[in-house]
Amino acid sequence: MSPDKVSRRGLMLVLSSPSGAGKSTISRALLENHEQLTMSVSATTRPQRPGEIEGKDYFFVDQETFEEMIAAGEFLEQATVFGNSYGTPRGPVMAALEAGQDVLFDVDWQGTQQLRQNALEDLVSIFILPPSLEELERRLFSRNQDSEQVVRSRMSRAYAEMSHWAEYDYIIINEEIEDSVKTAESILAAERARRERQRNLGDFVRSMDVAARS
Ligand code: 5GP
Repeated sequence: MSPDKVSRRGLMLVLSSPSGAGKSTISRALLENHEQLTMSVSATTRPQRPGEIEGKDYFFVDQETFEEMIAAGEFLEQATVFGNSYGTPRGPVMAALEAGQDVLFDVDWQGTQQLRQNALEDLVSIFILPPSLEELERRLFSRNQDSEQVVRSRMSRAYAEMSHWAEYDYIIINEEIEDSVKTAESILAAERARRERQRNLGDFVRSMDVAARS
């Protein structure tokens, strides 16, 4: 028996952070460098924006369809954001995990809690913190041309999100983006090697039992 007979169940990798902490840059780098990792595509009732692709950015559905999906238990998690419904469809995620594919999620702390209830040991969660309040403020100011008042309200929302740090498996303080990407990649590599995720290990090891052969 060769090592390639040892297959692996995929894992669900959740990245959460307040806006401005660097989550999208880290997600992009992980997706670019790791073929076995794909982004989960959510369903939403929000109208499609120009340039958005059905099935790639979102599955665009009407409210009635969304409610039918809830009733049928088709979501791993769902939430209402700015008056629109968003949810993570269960089917594609489960199929990916079975096929040994890892799935990346960009959801907030509430979505993470729901995912954890539905996914248990498949879930690996990382929270990204900014290195300081000053740096978060600087990043939020430089990203948006918003008024001071808008940035203040983003800052208080950021703090509300950050207060959930203790519910995550791993914490990355994002000082240098290259270092943070490396840390996230190390977490992914270590979690992939976990015994529970690897199938046929018993058969693989038994195939090396010399005594049983003679
Ligand atoms: P947008 O409409 O700008 O694409 O997304 C608005 C917000 O909805 C973002 O904060 C995004 O993270 C959140 N969101 C997108 N998809 C999902 C999802 O499947 N579940 C949850 N809980 N939030 C989502």
